[in-house]
Amino acid sequence: MLWEKDKLVKALEIDGLEELIQLYKDYDIQTSFVRRDNNFFCVSGCGACCYKPSLHLEVTVFEMIPLAIDLIISGQVNYVLEILNQQGIEQIPCVMYHKTSEDGSQGYCTDYDNRPLICRYFGGAAKVGKYGSRQLVLCKILKEKHKLNQDLLDRLSNLMPFIPHVTPQLRNLNRYIDNGLYPLNQGLKQALEYVLFRMQWLNPDAPEPNDPPVLTPSGGVDIAA
Ligand code: SF4
Ligand code: SF4
Repeated sequence: MLWEKDKLVKALEIDGLEELIQLYKDYDIQTSFVRRDNNFFCVSGCGACCYKPSLHLEVTVFEMIPLAIDLIISGQVNYVLEILNQQGIEQIPCVMYHKTSEDGSQGYCTDYDNRPLICRYFGGAAKVGKYGSRQLVLCKILKEKHKLNQDLLDRLSNLMPFIPHVTPQLRNLNRYIDNGLYPLNQGLKQALEYVLFRMQWLNPDAPEPNDPPVLTPSGGVDIAA
C-alpha cells in the first residue's frame, strides 16, 4: 500500500505525533522571522555542526519519527537502514547530512524540515546562561562572527525559543515511546523500526525492513567521512 504522508501520520495513531510536527513547523516559523528581522543567518553553505560523530547529537526516538516517516514515504528507508544496521553508527556523522566539501564543513541537511530539536538549537535557541539569565546557543563560527555585537546576541537570546521550555514541551507529547537519549543515527534507526513495525500492524502486507528491492536514495544521503 502506498501512503500519503498526512494519512500515514493519522493512521499510525502515535500519541502526540501531529502536535510534534506542528511544534517543528512553529519553531521554524518563529526562528526564521527572528533571523530575518535581525539579519542573523548561518554562514552560507556551512554544515559544520552536522559533520561530527552522531554520538554528539542526542535525540529521543519519538522526535525522530517525522524524519523516519519521510524516509519511508520517499522510498529511501531500506537504503538508510542498510547504513544504520552497520556497526559503529554513532561514530559517523548523521546519515541525513550531504557534504559538499572534501573536509565536510560545507554541506546540507537532506530533510531539514524534519530535523530533530538538537539541530534546531544551534544558533536558534536560548539556554540558561550564567546567573540564570538567557543566553543564545552559538556554534564557534557564529560566536566568532558576532563576538563584537553583544547587543544583538542579548536581543536574540530573548527572542529565540527557550530550551528549558521547548524540550519538556516535546517530551510531554508522548509518554509511551522510550524517552531515553540516543546518538542521532541510533535514534533514527529505532524510529524507522518503530514506524515500520506499526505499519505492519496496520497492513500485514507492508514490506519489512530490508525486503528487496533495496531502493536508492533520491536525496543524496552520503556518509563518506
Ligand atoms: S550553526 Fe554554525 S556550524 Fe551550524 S551551519 Fe550554522 S554557522 Fe555552520
Ligand atoms: S538531521 Fe539534518 S540538521 Fe540534524 S545533524 Fe542530521 S543533517 Fe544535520
